[in-house]
Amino acid sequence: MEKLGMERVVEALKEIVGEKNVVYEREKLEDYLRDETYPMLRLKPAANVVVVKPLNAEEVSRILKFANEHRIPVFPRGGGTGLVGGAVPTREGIVLTTERMKGIEIDRENLMATVGAGVTLEELIKASEEAGLFFPLHPGDETAHIGGLAATNAGGVRAVKYGVMRNYVKGLEVVLPTGEILNLGGKLQKDNTGYDLLDLIVGSEGTLAVITKVIVKLHPKPGASATLIAPFNSRHEAVGTVPKILQSGIIPLAIEYAERELMEKAAKHIGEEWPVKEGNCYLLIIVVGENRDQVLYESQKIAEICEQNHSLEILFAEPKHEQEKILRIRSAALPVLEAEGMVDGLDTAVPPAKIGEFLDKIDKIAEKYGTSFPVAGHAGDGNIHVCIMKREGVNLEEYAEKLRHEIYEAALELGGTISAEHGIGGVRLKSLPLYLSEKEIDLMRQIKKVFDPNGILNPGKKIP
Ligand SMILES: Cc1cc2nc3c(=O)[nH]c(=O)nc-3n(C[C@H](O)[C@H](O)[C@H](O)COP(=O)(O)OP(=O)(O)OC[C@H]3O[C@@H](n4cnc5c(N)ncnc54)[C@H](O)[C@@H]3O)c2cc1C
Repeated sequence: MEKLGMERVVEALKEIVGEKNVVYEREKLEDYLRDETYPMLRLKPAANVVVVKPLNAEEVSRILKFANEHRIPVFPRGGGTGLVGGAVPTREGIVLTTERMKGIEIDRENLMATVGAGVTLEELIKASEEAGLFFPLHPGDETAHIGGLAATNAGGVRAVKYGVMRNYVKGLEVVLPTGEILNLGGKLQKDNTGYDLLDLIVGSEGTLAVITKVIVKLHPKPGASATLIAPFNSRHEAVGTVPKILQSGIIPLAIEYAERELMEKAAKHIGEEWPVKEGNCYLLIIVVGENRDQVLYESQKIAEICEQNHSLEILFAEPKHEQEKILRIRSAALPVLEAEGMVDGLDTAVPPAKIGEFLDKIDKIAEKYGTSFPVAGHAGDGNIHVCIMKREGVNLEEYAEKLRHEIYEAALELGGTISAEHGIGGVRLKSLPLYLSEKEIDLMRQIKKVFDPNGILNPGKKIP
């Protein structure tokens, strides 16, 4: 196939989406060349890239047909908040951004919304609330797009009660790398027709198809909520309480694990004060319910379980502004860690009842290397982010690689995984064979080939 020069690519794209929706001037490209991957791990973007902003599936189809015919790599991009370099154009080619694909149609009768791939999480939360409904999923950055959330199968703080993005996606409009448009699933609670292509595309990180519309499940808006902070003197007591809460039959919206030093710094970072004075580590628990009585009842039960497990005095926050402040502080942990020289924040998960054992192993690794690992995470899901910090006088890349490997091994020994919610992108590829067998990787390669015979869609990502 004839290899086209970038000028001809730009002309062809302008014909499809109009001149103002194609960006190729170097100074305007910067925002499209990276995502939110931790600085030390960032992938190098290719020098010669053009950005295209299609409006709908038909335009995406024409772009992909053209790219496929000329074997031009295409890198789908949502909000660019990914943490593994998934949206970074690592080869000369086209960045396809979903930012113009807007539109939210709320269907109250069926408790569903049909959402353009480029709608931000913030926009969907707001529209749902205005309709008296609730979209609970909440990974930390609300500028993420709904297409991106589906493509990464995002998780976040509120997955304990309602699950990860896969649990919300009921239908998808997608465009295959060869240009065909498919509508998968629909406003259905049950659908067992054929292989589940919809579930295959959720979490495929832009390597199998471009998602242009998503049908998501919504929930009735809770009538009341409360946030509890249960302080503990030891990690073990804190994380050991998590399975006991879950076994009680009360499922909170969120159960987060956090440590004192980091929370105090995070609070200071945003000009607030961390409201708890006791304990070294905490469970942050969010309870939602139909009404206040239900929330008070469930909070009381959870408080009793925490106390039986030696929690110190529990903070109970009910006013909205107090609850929001706690979450804001929790969300400021990442910028603080980055400012303090975080080299990597791993995305390991273990079965929730094994978190204590996992943290013991982490402590041993820290001791062996004479360091410490700040730890935070979604304890209710067994998803613990272990942070590797900068160190003077060592080759940082080698040092981080060694630690990463040992921490991953520790998770795997307990039946865990190396990527719970952030995905693989281009950054975690090297570690994939630790978790997946050769056969599994081979099957995945074959699936990729069926969807994308010429390997044009997000090449070099997700599978080695
Ligand atoms: C401060 C902060 C906190 C975060 N906390 C969490 C968290 O708690 N849990 C969590 O899961 N994640 C978290 N993330 C990561 C990130 O927000 C999620 O991975 C999110 O789902 C990415 O969405 P995006 O639209 O920004 O995707 P992008 O970064 O633009 O892309 C991510 C991947 O999806 C592909 N993609 C994007 N859109 C499409 C599409 N329409 N069709 C096909 N492929 C597409 C891209 O090619 C890429 O591979 C956090 C990020 C930040 C910066």
